[in-house]
Amino acid sequence: MFHENTEDMTIVYPGSFDPVTLGHIDITRRAAEFAHRLVVAVLDNPHKEPMFSVAERVSFLQDSLADVSNVEIDSFSGLLADYVVKKGADAVLRGLRCADDFGNEFPYAVCNKAISGGRVETIFLPASPEFVHVSSSIVREVANFGVVSDFVPPVVRVAIEKRFLILTDSVDS
Ligand code: ADP
Repeated sequence: MFHENTEDMTIVYPGSFDPVTLGHIDITRRAAEFAHRLVVAVLDNPHKEPMFSVAERVSFLQDSLADVSNVEIDSFSGLLADYVVKKGADAVLRGLRCADDFGNEFPYAVCNKAISGGRVETIFLPASPEFVHVSSSIVREVANFGVVSDFVPPVVRVAIEKRFLILTDSVDS
């Protein structure tokens, strides 16, 4: 059950963040306004080959959110509901860009509540209009063609540029 006062609320914002985008940063900053403590948790998924390692993704988030005092960056593997309970959190935060996002998220929200014995709620925040089109997958897709999109924080831009410089060098040599 939620704390009586949102000032006591701990929220976990899980995701792949591969890489973190300005859409993720916007959702995090908005939620940090009403959460007491917000844990941004990078999922370490052994079944997916990521563009950036978990350590890199964590460090990009730390760099981009260093000025927000109640935000903590962490990583996790395994069942999200277990991780949320272990962190002493009350709710999962998810961002919604379109109706499809809601359709995908809704069963997970119901499931997380059920398997945590009613403890883990889900909070949905709508994407800000300027970021509804932004996704990590688009960033990765265009990066594969050597394009660094404007949708990412400066630290990620630099990392993508470096990655392509190195790849281009190794292809050239
Ligand atoms: P996934 O866990 O599906 O890999 P991501 O790492 O891409 O998710 O994103 C984590 C969360 O952030 C999800 O709830 C996703 O809907 C949300 N999100 C992603 N991009 C945006 C955006 N541009 N605006 C708002 N929310 C977003």
